[in-house]
Amino acid sequence: MGRMGIVRRKVQNKAPESIARAVIDGCADCDICRYLMEDTSCLVFPELYRLYDKEREEKGEVTPQDLRKLVDLCNFCALCPCPDVRSNLMKAKHAFVHRQGLKPTIRLLEDVARVARICGAFPRLANLAFQSELTGGLLKNLAGIHPKSKVPKFPEGAFPAWAGERGLDIRQSGSRTKVALFAGCTGQYLFPDVPRAAVEVLQRNGIEVYYPEQKCCGMPSLLEGDQALTCEFAAFNLERLSEAVDEGCDIVCSCPTCGFMLKDVLSEGAHYSDQYRESVGAEGSGSDGQMAFTGRVGKEAALPSRVLLSGLFKDDGYFASLDARKRMKIATHTHDLGEYLLSLHVAGKLDTKLGAVPSRMVYYPPCHLREQEIGEPYSELLHLIPGISLETIDGAFYCCGMAGIMGFKRDFHEVSVAMGSRLMEKIGTLHPERLVSDCLSCRIQFNQLLPYKVLHPIEILREAYMNEGTSGPLAGQDDRDRGE
Ligand code: SF4
Ligand code: SF4
Repeated sequence: MGRMGIVRRKVQNKAPESIARAVIDGCADCDICRYLMEDTSCLVFPELYRLYDKEREEKGEVTPQDLRKLVDLCNFCALCPCPDVRSNLMKAKHAFVHRQGLKPTIRLLEDVARVARICGAFPRLANLAFQSELTGGLLKNLAGIHPKSKVPKFPEGAFPAWAGERGLDIRQSGSRTKVALFAGCTGQYLFPDVPRAAVEVLQRNGIEVYYPEQKCCGMPSLLEGDQALTCEFAAFNLERLSEAVDEGCDIVCSCPTCGFMLKDVLSEGAHYSDQYRESVGAEGSGSDGQMAFTGRVGKEAALPSRVLLSGLFKDDGYFASLDARKRMKIATHTHDLGEYLLSLHVAGKLDTKLGAVPSRMVYYPPCHLREQEIGEPYSELLHLIPGISLETIDGAFYCCGMAGIMGFKRDFHEVSVAMGSRLMEKIGTLHPERLVSDCLSCRIQFNQLLPYKVLHPIEILREAYMNEGTSGPLAGQDDRDRGE
């Protein structure tokens, strides 16, 4: 049994201190990340080894407060090598919250869609109030936001209304290729031009887009340790997305964090469940009993049945209370938008009549895209556009540090800026005309810390179609309010 399996067994039904302690002991024993993570943005491992060394040298014991602080440093960026280690840090965080409760300010901020909907109902007023030094300071103080944190501007017109006006919320019958767009809260309510661009590029390529009713993917509340709210969101999404898959849709995410949640986090352990294993015959196993899935889900699902039957692996993780078959169904039908468009290109089905977008750009592939193990589809797609000079920030050790709402919080903002500083310095040395990233949390962080115009790659692709301008649904469209 590997180290991760040992840690998995040690943390079942334990107090948060014991879970965090098991992580310290496991990682101290292994010691790989003492050096491996030294040059990364992660603040957990330096603190973990500092606590361990302090205790070993008998300069002081590790207190419950130390353990709480340690788990709070994890933003689930997934840069570390062992998924179980970060998952156990989240379990410890949740167990602390279960015991001590959540601060009212966190309860307010963690439901990003609700906050953005309220402020977005009166965007001018909300923007004025947050930008003014006097009222802005007061509002931030009340909401637990750090005074130096820049609140993004609320746009006129959120994505749901735009989609509703175009009937995208009604599922169409018919034989055209269909996708269900999972647009993410930040996209829908803070940067609605991103899901609009996704719809327009997909339609340009003859894909029918359905926009199902959806709630937050759950990452912000998961990062705050609020398991009840995270599971409430996940249960809602599972039902709606499962219906869409049954109607023949693929699920496409324009936000890599939502994609990571739907593909990997939500399905964690689901393939170990009896419920799922019994249904496998009907849901796509190969003749040898192995399932034809890719990525991490595929690797774990392909474990030999004697290992699965040994009882060591169970569906006992964070989302175990939710239907395992639906979790697997969603995981195996979800695609990142860039991944989906690149697969169209590989199949010779992507419209490559792209006009020039002359600009010097830097692309940052975000952490949760890397975690999906699908390469960098947008780098390949952007290289199809004439006129772009593109530099990609490669290397697994960069993170913007934003992590959902964590970067806004009074007691985490400075940590978040410290985590992101390596990436910001790197971008600064490249000094692009445009900075490109598919993660909108990264975009919020870039907007706070850097002077560059930030765009999602799907906006660049749409621009290329519009610049070509000879055919397709985008030609001749009016320039709209971009919602920035
Ligand atoms: S995260 Fe994994 S590889 Fe790194 S120290 Fe811990 S057990 Fe070792
Ligand atoms: S998920 Fe990120 S922040 Fe958390 S321990 Fe791993 S590398 Fe560090």
